[in-house]
Amino acid sequence: MTPATVERFAAGREVQPADVLALAQEHGVRMVDFKFTDIPGTWQHLGLSIHALDEEAFTEGLGFDGSSIRGFQEIAESDMVLIPDAASAVIDPFHEEKTLSIVCNVIDPITRERYSRDPRYVAHKAERYLVETGIADTVFMGPEAEFYVFDHAAFDQQANTAFYEVESDQAYWNRGRGFGARNGDSNLGYKIRSQQGYFPTPPLDTHGDIRGQMVIEMERMGIRCEFHHHEVGSAGQAEINVRFATLLRMADNLQLQKYVVKNVARRFGKTATFMPKPLYEENGSGMHVHQSLAKDGENVMYDFQGYGQLSREALNYIGGLLRHGKALMAFCAPTTNSYRRLVPGYEAPVNLMYSQRNQAARVPPAGPLVQPVPGVLRAAHGGARRDPEPDRPRESPGRRRVRAPGGRAGEDRPRAGVAGGGPGCPRGGPRVPAEGRGVHGGPDRDVDRLQAPRGGGPGAAAAASVGVRAVLRRVRARLVLLGCWLR
Ligand SMILES: [Mg+2]
Repeated sequence: MTPATVERFAAGREVQPADVLALAQEHGVRMVDFKFTDIPGTWQHLGLSIHALDEEAFTEGLGFDGSSIRGFQEIAESDMVLIPDAASAVIDPFHEEKTLSIVCNVIDPITRERYSRDPRYVAHKAERYLVETGIADTVFMGPEAEFYVFDHAAFDQQANTAFYEVESDQAYWNRGRGFGARNGDSNLGYKIRSQQGYFPTPPLDTHGDIRGQMVIEMERMGIRCEFHHHEVGSAGQAEINVRFATLLRMADNLQLQKYVVKNVARRFGKTATFMPKPLYEENGSGMHVHQSLAKDGENVMYDFQGYGQLSREALNYIGGLLRHGKALMAFCAPTTNSYRRLVPGYEAPVNLMYSQRNQAARVPPAGPLVQPVPGVLRAAHGGARRDPEPDRPRESPGRRRVRAPGGRAGEDRPRAGVAGGGPGCPRGGPRVPAEGRGVHGGPDRDVDRLQAPRGGGPGAAAAASVGVRAVLRRVRARLVLLGCWLR
């Protein structure tokens, strides 16, 4: 199959507009789709016939009305210009006519300067700032964006009515569907129990082929994928892990990943959502963000002798995140639905803390990561400059688990050190699940999980050791932070 990305035309050098036109010619492209991100984080797009695209467009740009984009310009100064980034060119498989997709930067048509509200520019400035600090020259990000795939979604709010309704054939609430009926569709059983979607085989998991198609499309479009799996949520929750990349590249990749996930789900007659908490009493969809800094090709955050194999720079980085944790919530959990995901019982973080094992906000010895909200990077660097190394977590006899790298959401209740209060905990105290419900993290759920308790039997200890060594081979230092959400 002909690769859909533009890199091979550049053969290692910087991608040029001529390479994009060569890619278009090879694939018989008919339309070009220009994409950029608005303030809330939604990809916007506009199309152009391939006959109207030339190399000048990559320097002169393409005009659009900035006043119609949320958070951008006022009507009196509405004209804005898109500058296509040639390196982002890729064949977009979700159009009838062969279409080339290019991500754009936004600039001012008068001054020709980058637009301050263009999220891509913010990411660019964050990367530039990192170099200026001298601490590192590269930041890697590795987000794990969770999502739900539903069979049906309807909602409305009007003067006389308000409702929402979602449906999933996998969901536990369909166990009794069709009882007593003589006609209609059969109920074939195999419904996933509440909060137990991680991760039984088919016929319980009916979305394996859908996730597989999502991975295939993502790889065709240049995103390196790792695991894909059903997530804890009964009604079709899922996760696709991708290989880490530099901040701006990963920000583009994450937008592309969400685009692919939603459009492949549509192909299968389903609908995908990254909404943080679509279902009451079921796990919400978070986004762990693995982060690491490198300088001259070396991982700045690794020190074998340090706590959790972390260097002083890494601890300072964490200190910055802890210090600015409350402010970061404006980016990491910006909506009511997102903020209300941060409640106990559903693997969401509810404490501002760090630990090498505790999944609520942990620092395990593993791989790098990124959060495409540059405020996180800035806060972390602000911490590094002020040198606020956080207090060491207190060791406690918490449970230890063996998990593959790129693992799952954190457990809610802290069992290791607590370094601060809980900005993610809603005012008025945590909401707890209804009495008698089996919630994730409770003893009824943990019995069937692979665990390696400290001081446990030799089998458990060996399993833990093997798991940790495997992780160490892959990357050196990994930091899993607050479960973040980016729309
Ligand atoms: Mg997960």
